[in-house]
Amino acid sequence: MRILVVEDEKRIADFLGRGLQGAGYAVDIAPDGASAIQFTHDTDYDLVILDLMLPDMDGLKVLERIRSRRAGPPVLILSARGQVDDRVKGLETGADDYLTKPFAFVELLARVRALLRRGQPAPEKLQVADLALDCTRRKVMRGNEAIELAPKEFGILEYMMRNKGRPLSRTMIVEHVWDMDYDGLTNIVDVYIRHLRSKIDDRFPQKLIHTVRGIGYMIEAPEKSAFRTGLDSAPVEKPV
Ligand code: CA
Repeated sequence: MRILVVEDEKRIADFLGRGLQGAGYAVDIAPDGASAIQFTHDTDYDLVILDLMLPDMDGLKVLERIRSRRAGPPVLILSARGQVDDRVKGLETGADDYLTKPFAFVELLARVRALLRRGQPAPEKLQVADLALDCTRRKVMRGNEAIELAPKEFGILEYMMRNKGRPLSRTMIVEHVWDMDYDGLTNIVDVYIRHLRSKIDDRFPQKLIHTVRGIGYMIEAPEKSAFRTGLDSAPVEKPV
């Protein structure tokens, strides 16, 4: 996967470049709008991370150029301009997501991964361990037991299961499950996660919803290694 970072502030560009490379992506850096347009013309990127305030032009102009071509890459706007107007304008111009500076790298990475996943066809049935969610019939089963969920609970669970194994921030969950007009607190996510846990996790020995410190939540099957460690009395350590 190859990512273009359009960012004129060298400190941020270096930080993003290092972080994304560390996460296994190939990264190019464009320091201004003209080179960004040139780069996206020459190379098929899987994702573009776009700053709005560039020295030679407004980042939205770059976005328009990317969107003027067929099947351009997803674009994540990363900007200090966090007003609702700017977010709406960015999304209307064709950005796929919008993150306001300052940002936590883990949150950026979670969004990058969600965007890169989006191109893949969405399965109708989602499964995490013995938890199954049928997106079409809107049914949830844990093992043989049918579980009733309220619409928002279902929405959160579906979003988490589509991104299983990926930490999702409260903001991401709010933005995907509540509509754009919702500007209440992200604590509401904690309330809904409590409800979800009481319905799908509390009565079962294997917990699937995990709290990820400093970020939010993630759904994941318990790891096989964890099973093994649980069964074996002492974990086997290999000599180094
Ligand atoms: Ca800038």
